[in-house]
Amino acid sequence: MSEQQSDTPEQKPDAPEEQLPPYVIEGARSSRARCKTCRRKIDKGVLRIGILIEGPYGTGYLWHHLKCAARKQFERVEEAYGAEAWNVAKEPPSKVPPLDSLRELRDKSEERKATRKEIPYAELAPSGRARCKHCDELIEKGSVRIALGRTVEFGNQVRTAPINVHPACVAEAIQAEDCDTESDGFAGTLRAHTLEVPPEQLDRAIAEIGNLE
Ligand SMILES: [Zn+2]
Ligand SMILES: [Zn+2]
Repeated sequence: MSEQQSDTPEQKPDAPEEQLPPYVIEGARSSRARCKTCRRKIDKGVLRIGILIEGPYGTGYLWHHLKCAARKQFERVEEAYGAEAWNVAKEPPSKVPPLDSLRELRDKSEERKATRKEIPYAELAPSGRARCKHCDELIEKGSVRIALGRTVEFGNQVRTAPINVHPACVAEAIQAEDCDTESDGFAGTLRAHTLEVPPEQLDRAIAEIGNLE
């Protein structure tokens, strides 16, 4: 996956720049764009919001699933609704969800954030009974295990579930097709998300993980 490309605005303005509205809400016209929030493809026809940005490649829209944007930057969605941003779409969608239902998504996501650990994180194995999802060996009680994100589908919903692996197994496990944890900046993210592992033990685990880049 080329990150560089995905940061390039995908819609080149076809009108003079000053006429581009700050937001567009529409059904995706192709399946090419990736959501800048969850990094997954936005399937054709799924509602998306374009947020106008001025970047090094010019002015253009960065696209997000409408629901992803509601979870992470609800204020933008609220502004777009205020501007009735579906009216500026090339093919205005026949229906958009009520703003209140999007607000609920935001509230739920904030609740979850308060109670749930963010992947990737390190923790101490509470028992010696669980196996590493990569090498299938037991993870010793009290040793550090690393939770990586695995993409799982429930019906038509895609979610991320944590899988636990040995520190030494991270480098290979993170390459798996269904692993959606980024290797870029992994150690820093891991430290930021880890709450209850003594620092020396975390340092050792990070040394064991090694350089992923
Ligand atoms: Zn998304
Ligand atoms: Zn392992």
